[in-house]
Amino acid sequence: MRIAHSADELRRQLKPLRSHQTIAFVPTMGCLHAGHMNLIEKAGELADIVVVSIYVNPLQFGTGEDLDAYPRTFDVDAALCAGAGVNFLFYPATLYPKSGPKITLKATRLSNCLCGASRPGHFDGVITVVNILFNIIQPDFAVFGEKDWQQLTIIRRMVKDLQMPVEIIGSEIIREADGLAMSSRNRYLSNTDHSQALALSQALTAMQQSALAGETSVGVLKHIAQSIFDTASIQTEYLDVRSANSLKARHILDKQPARAFVAARVGNARLIDNMPLELNISPEPATCTEDSQ
Ligand code: AMP
Repeated sequence: MRIAHSADELRRQLKPLRSHQTIAFVPTMGCLHAGHMNLIEKAGELADIVVVSIYVNPLQFGTGEDLDAYPRTFDVDAALCAGAGVNFLFYPATLYPKSGPKITLKATRLSNCLCGASRPGHFDGVITVVNILFNIIQPDFAVFGEKDWQQLTIIRRMVKDLQMPVEIIGSEIIREADGLAMSSRNRYLSNTDHSQALALSQALTAMQQSALAGETSVGVLKHIAQSIFDTASIQTEYLDVRSANSLKARHILDKQPARAFVAARVGNARLIDNMPLELNISPEPATCTEDSQ
């Protein structure tokens, strides 16, 4: 595995390979866990070369957020990447000019809800850095986790609207055995916080099961989840049900794919999670046109 510390260095390393090998890219902020490793494994199945980046992007953190405290574990991360067969690890000191970026991208409608509403400017920072990374790496594929569903949706839309020649692959949420979605921020949780945080996946699972049992009212589903949060003494930042692709608010479940989303602060960590809500819609009865006897 080769480690590059600057855009120029990585471009030089990748240049001779581009003509005959495909590239899959996994952007991360480091402090790697099994969720990241699953994305890396997917990338390895998709392309000849796997590039992973580790960059804690200041542009996506708001004032008072955990930019300085964000866990940085480069040596362990590099060993994990090498063990997983990563070909290039990109670890730049910065991706912006000294005076700060003067040109940035803006995510419009898709960023007005969920995390975009509670973290103004966050997704503008995310798509700006992803765009810079895509320009440097020029990958054929880029793999993102469904854990950050809104991010994945916005990036898919960026690639479509800006006609970027990269295929975006979404990968399922990896969870601890007890259901907690893996996150670098889980390190902030004490044992007590961890037990309390289980309410997130439990509430989403309860919504999912009620939907499968035939409940179509989003109001009722939210009520079911809310009672789990009340019992765990968790105050949610948001608890929402939206169309999976357009992120439009939903009041009723029907055949259009929907997802439940939650964000909550537990101890020192801000945690997010989401799950699909599927109705158990039985297929239309087949119409019999011929006598089968
Ligand atoms: P981060 O390092 O938190 O910026 O995440 C880098 C990538 O890993 C993003 O595409 C995340 O969605 C993905 N990711 C983080 N946690 C998980 C998880 N538990 N399961 C699947 N993907 C994840």
